[in-house]
Amino acid sequence: MHIDILTLFPQMFEGPFSESILKRAQAKQLVEIALHNIRDYSNNKHKQVDDYAYGGGAGMVMMVEPIDNCLQKLKSERNYDEVIYLSPDGELFDQKLANQLSGKKNIAFLCGHYKGVDERVRQNLITREVSIGNYVLTGGELATAVVVDAIVRLIPGVLNDETSALSDSFQDNLISPPVYSQPADYKGWKVPEILLSGNHAKIDAWRHEQSVLRTKERRPGMLDVD
Ligand code: SAM
Repeated sequence: MHIDILTLFPQMFEGPFSESILKRAQAKQLVEIALHNIRDYSNNKHKQVDDYAYGGGAGMVMMVEPIDNCLQKLKSERNYDEVIYLSPDGELFDQKLANQLSGKKNIAFLCGHYKGVDERVRQNLITREVSIGNYVLTGGELATAVVVDAIVRLIPGVLNDETSALSDSFQDNLISPPVYSQPADYKGWKVPEILLSGNHAKIDAWRHEQSVLRTKERRPGMLDVD
């Protein structure tokens, strides 16, 4: 998979993309992530990328031209399955969308800042708008990092133990069962006996039962989804 990220703050990705799973996925060449500074595509001699909103009001707006210039160049190099603008009012990101996006070849993410991007970007240059929740972040960078992390870990070969992504919460409309590790008894807080029994059929049945219980308690709506 190839991912292009259009941002005014490329350094914000240094931490999340250089550790753990995302680092390993890039090292294994299962994903290629390229950062593009929108400022480099401004034709303005001051490298201006934002301006006041027509009609007045507080806050700056990211101008259409630098974003269009950047996307035009990228689109001349590859065809995108999706060009995604991160936006608080976009479609809510979930595991189903993560699965869907993890099967794509080329995705571009556009990170907004300030009051957001000129509406003409949204109308003409992107294919999809995605939100990571009903709250407002300072910019689309952290939202993009969340979405990229969730999709890259689903690419076959990225996780060492393939089944571990499949047994994560939400993969089959169920929440994960509780997990335990050593010691079996810590300060009198005991691991459920069944997990120490060695009976894998019974353990699987117990885990499934726990998943259903947790889902009923914590995300009852998920059980109605087909
Ligand atoms: N004025 C915008 C509004 O009220 O919808 C908020 C702009 S926000 C300060 C700046 C940028 O952060 C947005 O353009 C978007 O790219 C990103 N952003 C903020 N919250 C987000 C969220 N919940 N999900 C995805 N992106 C978000």
